[in-house]
Amino acid sequence: MPMDDGVRVRYAPSPTGQQHIGSIRTALFNYLFARKQGGRLILRIEDTDRARSAPEFEQDLYRQLAWLGLAWDEGPDIGGPAGPYRQSERSALYRDAMQRLIAQGSAYPCYCSPEELAEQRRTALAEGRPPRYSGLCRAPERREALRRQGRSPVYRLRVPEGRELAFDDLIRRRIATDSDTLGDFTIYTAQDETLEGGRALYNLAVTVDDHGMGITHVLRGEEHLSNTPRQMLLYEALGYEPPQFGHLSLILTPEGNKMSKRYGDTSIAHYAAEGYLPEAILTYVATLGWAPGRNAERMTLDELIQRFDLRRMSANPSVFDPQRLLRFNKRKLQHADRDTIAELVRPRLVAEYGRWEASEGTAHTPEWWFMLLVGAAQEEAATLSEIVALSAMFLAESPPALGEDAQEALQAPEAEAVLAHALETMDADVLATPESANAHMTALRHHWRDEAGLRGRQVMFPIRAALIGSTTGPCLGIITSLLGPERCRARIREALTWIAEP
Ligand code: GLU
Repeated sequence: MPMDDGVRVRYAPSPTGQQHIGSIRTALFNYLFARKQGGRLILRIEDTDRARSAPEFEQDLYRQLAWLGLAWDEGPDIGGPAGPYRQSERSALYRDAMQRLIAQGSAYPCYCSPEELAEQRRTALAEGRPPRYSGLCRAPERREALRRQGRSPVYRLRVPEGRELAFDDLIRRRIATDSDTLGDFTIYTAQDETLEGGRALYNLAVTVDDHGMGITHVLRGEEHLSNTPRQMLLYEALGYEPPQFGHLSLILTPEGNKMSKRYGDTSIAHYAAEGYLPEAILTYVATLGWAPGRNAERMTLDELIQRFDLRRMSANPSVFDPQRLLRFNKRKLQHADRDTIAELVRPRLVAEYGRWEASEGTAHTPEWWFMLLVGAAQEEAATLSEIVALSAMFLAESPPALGEDAQEALQAPEAEAVLAHALETMDADVLATPESANAHMTALRHHWRDEAGLRGRQVMFPIRAALIGSTTGPCLGIITSLLGPERCRARIREALTWIAEP
């Protein structure tokens, strides 16, 4: 199958951990660029580090990308013209490249032991030289002597001296590196000179793959910036045309530190479990290093594609702010279609409370009751988990415990009279619908204003406290409709007992 000649980008994660905010950002920008350019996104699994790679992380990758709705055009699971797409299945290609580099004198085996390397580094530092590889094994006599001792080689690229290695980064200015700072770097490890069972190291594998897969643009994290001049040397040595490179800005924590594994749980699995919506995560992540425009939190993935522009990306570090992500999610949740949210919430409620509705004793059908609950919770909650938590007041077996605000409201001097009067007047008819219940609440407020000069909250807070154990929450008309007359009255009676004997 021939490869197309349009834009080809890749997302090339190593399956050594779960997908997280940082890795997904790289995936997203490659996705947006590919879609905007009408190009192709290639998924490549970089599992050359066999010790740290694990199948469950590759599964997590498929699961999270699918959940987020980021689809790729070629990859290990769907194939394509440039496969295989898993580095562990491409060893023969790396070995061929390696043999070519050795044959043309661009690479050589190095037999220095770790102790010797450490010693060479110490000497260099003491003499005020950069701690790069000394080049000792460039000498064939030394190599031959050490090989005879039975040592296994690592292969190094012979780095030319005094070269300026420069490229125009797609996101930054021109980046130039003096080749003398690099030292001959390692590209392959092997048992012996046959290269059998050997292993390509990152820079060699990536270069062979990006070339072999026809990649035109490499968009990756800033942490790879120092690898790029090394890869340019490999492109040159192998006679390949390099792609264009763009390095995405660092992501910092709100405290200004580099975001590392130790910074809380930023895995996509965690956010999915917490009930974040995929589009909230994507639109938020799009703001890390790019400015999609005003009201990014309202955009859809399609709008992000339309607006995407590499020239508007920033090289400055961006800050991951979990609170802002939460606000993005709240907004997406509030504007999401109620039926969609209902279907996401239903299984979560069953898992938590063993049921998704409690319409018995109300005037509503189960489905109507459930949609009323979802609509009310959708207004208040920032995540699906919060919807589940908010639903406790209607679905949990026992009535909610009294919060401090509720206790205070029930201890107010007028609370007992207000609740006793509410108990008398709240029958099934007035609580039949949210509208009739709201009208009744207004009537109660007016009654107490005229009767005793009470303010609205002096009437509503004790009632709220009695019904849901809190003075905040959804509107009272919805609360009473969801609870139904029997549960409303039972809870008010319990509150009156509490007032008598707190
Ligand atoms: N596998 C590398 C990583 O996960 C990415 C390599 C690249 O994009 O060049 O960091």
